[in-house]
Amino acid sequence: MKVLVLEHSRLFQKMLTELLEELGCEVDCVRTGEEGKHKLEKQPYNLILAGQHIFDESGVDFAKYCSNKQFSCPIILLTSEPNEALLKIARNAGITDIYPKTNFTYLRESLRYYIEGQTNINIEGGRVIYVEDSRSVAHIVINYLKKINLNVTHFTNAESALESIHNNNYDLVITDVILDGAMSGVSLVRMIRSQNSHISEIPILAMTGHDDPQRRIELYHAGINDYVTKPPIEEEFASRVNNLITNKRLLDQVREQQKSLYEMAMKDQLTTCHNRHSLAEYAPKYIADAIKFNFPLSMMILDLDHFKEINDQYGHTTGDIVLSDIGELLMTTCKQGDFVARIGGEEFAIMLPHYSTKAAMDKAEKIRSDIELCKPAGLRVTASIGVATLSDKHNGNYDSLYKDADQAVYISKENGRNCISFHCDEVVNISAADAV
Ligand code: GH3
Ligand code: MG
Ligand code: MG
Ligand code: MG
Repeated sequence: MKVLVLEHSRLFQKMLTELLEELGCEVDCVRTGEEGKHKLEKQPYNLILAGQHIFDESGVDFAKYCSNKQFSCPIILLTSEPNEALLKIARNAGITDIYPKTNFTYLRESLRYYIEGQTNINIEGGRVIYVEDSRSVAHIVINYLKKINLNVTHFTNAESALESIHNNNYDLVITDVILDGAMSGVSLVRMIRSQNSHISEIPILAMTGHDDPQRRIELYHAGINDYVTKPPIEEEFASRVNNLITNKRLLDQVREQQKSLYEMAMKDQLTTCHNRHSLAEYAPKYIADAIKFNFPLSMMILDLDHFKEINDQYGHTTGDIVLSDIGELLMTTCKQGDFVARIGGEEFAIMLPHYSTKAAMDKAEKIRSDIELCKPAGLRVTASIGVATLSDKHNGNYDSLYKDADQAVYISKENGRNCISFHCDEVVNISAADAV
């Protein structure tokens, strides 16, 4: 950003230059209106900061020059004693804003805010889909979007744009209202908003040549986020695009954070299996599905045998390695759709949809023998396993099914550990010796 400073005081010039350079600006300083005029004739500036002497005799020409010339550079007047008369002259001369210079800290922050606001339009790598049937308008708008680092995919009709929206991840939709083809821009907006996925949340900026209030209202009702008339003013257009994409990014960030917080709350950190909360949330859904779609469902609970002795003998860290290895073994042994959770210190539960009692007992036996063979941390580890299968007696109740599986674990412990048991009304225990 190029800034021209018009200021009598060399000290104040120096202070302003340091601040502006710190903000990434290129600065030229002059002391009189005459010098300022010369500078402006030679090259364009993005901002002029001028002391109020530009309205005294030496600066009057400069002020006239700025107000007469069709010249779009904003001028900020820096004043130490604002008064009504001065403000009136300044406004008539087309001054953009007036900042007091008596408090340099305040001035510094005001300028920082102003300049960062001007230069912040830099949306790295954003993807925009742009629907416009007029090639000449499209040419101009695509140029504006490219200048602020956006990647633009252009369509001349809404039908192809909608297809592309389904197949890509865009950060913003910009659409003309009257379009080639059967679908208008308003219909496109309605179609996007009615999708049953993240697509329905893409920000939409509408553009139209007819600035008709009724049409604007219709577009807002259809679900646009913002609206500009054609041809757009470049800076205004860039600011609106920037706002929409920035807000989308913030919303995406919040969603990501929510997702990772949810995962953290639902996962066991040591083993990466689901945790007890997660099981309590999902198990009733598994049961409801099994009843609704009439498929068998079993539940398995495992408790490692004499685990306390492993901790006592080899230390807690080795105990943790054992738990983490067993968790991994369970997750790799189970297929997609099975639900593995660590429900306590050395206890795990697995929901097994589509498993009859026989299938669940076979699976339990395989897991028992895999654990016995796997030697986590080089140690012999065994587990006592209990199985229960959902039946009418459970009345669709998760706690009741859990109680049966837990009861079966107890029976496995009673029967000497390292074995599997099934509990319903009658108990079936298969010891490791029977299994081999
Ligand atoms: P049993 O065969 O009757 O199940 O005996 P056990 O020793 O496995 O059962 P007990 O309930 O007496 O002991 C469980 C142990 O698990 C005690 C506790 O220190 C240990 N434990 C619980 N959570 C963790 C953990 O996160 N890491 C480690 N290393 N040990 C844990
Ligand atoms: Mg059109
Ligand atoms: Mg236990
Ligand atoms: Mg145990």
